[in-house]
Amino acid sequence: MTKILDSFQRCPSCNSIQRRNSRAGYLNRYSEQISEYFGVNEKKLNSSVGNFTCLNCRLIYKNKWFKKRYLNIVFNSIVPVHPKGWDKLSKKFNKKNFKNLIDKFIENLNNKENKDINRHEREVLSFLDSMDNKNNFLIIKNKLRVNLKKKKSRKN
Ligand SMILES: [Zn+2]
Repeated sequence: MTKILDSFQRCPSCNSIQRRNSRAGYLNRYSEQISEYFGVNEKKLNSSVGNFTCLNCRLIYKNKWFKKRYLNIVFNSIVPVHPKGWDKLSKKFNKKNFKNLIDKFIENLNNKENKDINRHEREVLSFLDSMDNKNNFLIIKNKLRVNLKKKKSRKN
């Protein structure tokens, strides 16, 4: 991990060394793609990069980040665009495709090699996030989100 990451002991904004632990990052499509690219364990990569809050200026920063020579690869090749919300603008934003996504997710749950399960889960959640929140829809959406996570954790 040290060959791709630099460590930071001081706040990059005010240079203070005073800090406290902040909420940890979570596994997502970026951690998956980045760890795959560098051939490192995703959970180890995620746990080795901590979030800290500077006690002087309140900036939240990471104590480790990619070495300069890898930043171009990370931001321009591995994860060049943040696709959240794209679904709504796509022609695929309809009931039929939503059902297809759910079916793919379930198919993956029943498959021994559920290699794409994280991707399918993200696709379903991204689709959900693009839907308008009207009336009780938020409750239904959150129930579905929780159930997807439950089903997946039962699988793992
Ligand atoms: Zn600071």
